[in-house]
Amino acid sequence: MPKISQSTIDAVEFVHTYDLAMRMGHWTKTSGGGSIKVECPNPNHIEKTPDTYIKKSTGIFMCYGGGGCGAKGKALQYYAWSTWGCWDPKTHFIDAVIGVCELMGIPIEYDGPVQDSIQKRVRPAIQPAAAPKAVFEDVPAQPAEVCDRVYRRFLELCPIYQEHAEEWMTKRRYTKEQINAFGLRSIPATWPESKLIVDTLLKEGYSLERIPGFTLKLRKGGNPLNEKDWYWAINAYGKYFLPVRDDTGRIVRLRMATGQEKKKYTWFSSGPNVEVQKNSTGQITELKVLDPSLDINANPHEMRRGGASSSHHINVVLPYQAHSEQGQEVMDIFTFDSVVITEGEHKAFYAASILRKPVIGIPGAGNYRDVLPVLKKWGVKKAVVAYDADAFITKDKDGQKQKNEQVFKNLIDFSKEILESDGIELVFWIWNIADGKGLDDVLMGGKLPMEVNPRTKTRVPVTI
Ligand SMILES: [Zn+2]
Repeated sequence: MPKISQSTIDAVEFVHTYDLAMRMGHWTKTSGGGSIKVECPNPNHIEKTPDTYIKKSTGIFMCYGGGGCGAKGKALQYYAWSTWGCWDPKTHFIDAVIGVCELMGIPIEYDGPVQDSIQKRVRPAIQPAAAPKAVFEDVPAQPAEVCDRVYRRFLELCPIYQEHAEEWMTKRRYTKEQINAFGLRSIPATWPESKLIVDTLLKEGYSLERIPGFTLKLRKGGNPLNEKDWYWAINAYGKYFLPVRDDTGRIVRLRMATGQEKKKYTWFSSGPNVEVQKNSTGQITELKVLDPSLDINANPHEMRRGGASSSHHINVVLPYQAHSEQGQEVMDIFTFDSVVITEGEHKAFYAASILRKPVIGIPGAGNYRDVLPVLKKWGVKKAVVAYDADAFITKDKDGQKQKNEQVFKNLIDFSKEILESDGIELVFWIWNIADGKGLDDVLMGGKLPMEVNPRTKTRVPVTI
């Protein structure tokens, strides 16, 4: 009998229990102490109030209800406890791996020849009707593979305006090949254009529900209690979209270049500000305002529902020469032993193609929580931190000073986390500020940084 490949098992290991619980339609609630509260997955455990917690940082869950029923572990165990009311690795392992893969859209790979009986396997155990009805506290976005499908098609439909193409090719010095590989697209500038795109997506059967950036809005003069008066739209403004990918190349979010001086980039996001109650026939019976500052009588067109907030995501950029098929493991197609971590969208895009290694872009320098698991998954030996030259410079200007101090603090926290992690060496890339502010500027000028190892205190020039 063929064996499930280690890469598939590794991918399952990487599934966060929270994502799985969401996918199974389970009730979840953000709780204090970096945890998410869920109902105990064990169907044999009848509890009055939920008392099981998933730790956000590790994905480990544990039931504490009535002293705990023994349900604990990660996504695989969560699946097993939900499905069989217990976890016995010997009997459940294979079925649980397959079950998690099917729920999360992970392709199942086998070593050796594949038998028909396994290929024809159907989804086990979980009946959607039996799952508890989802009650969403903070309206989570759809899982990565769902967002990826929608965003890919959406970007295909979006235009590339001449002015943006020129900006990418001159100011950014991207080639056409790079622009296509990265998936840069203009934000539809007119209402008919954006309507046509959204209508096409819907006609092709894509659900826009809880895809960050897409939202239901009320027609002019419409009745909010009439579902027919709501229509899907995109919540976008500015110049163009920059796709944000995860470690398997899936497009999980979009950034928007705003064209504004104060805030140059922002997330394509659509957190709802109203929600509706429906009766059993699907008729809207009640409209609830989530945002108290919203006056729905004065500004009915500002109501948004059905979408989801983007929140922050790290951007994993592979050299465009090594762009993988969606969902393919990076290590299978491309070898590397170090990863560069930087701040900002274009910086990561540009640096990855010059350096020919993965570059992780961290939004706002503070959201490094998700970086370490990627480094560990890839078995990276060295993490290179290459922040802007002014990351450590404290300027006197109001506001600026505070920002740089915060960047510095975040960087120190991040460095500590890497240093405490086994087997990953941390180095910094630094350069003369005269050679450029960001890593992209330095590389564009044909220069290379110096590599500083804080442990050994050595400095060596970077080579490609
Ligand atoms: Zn329990």
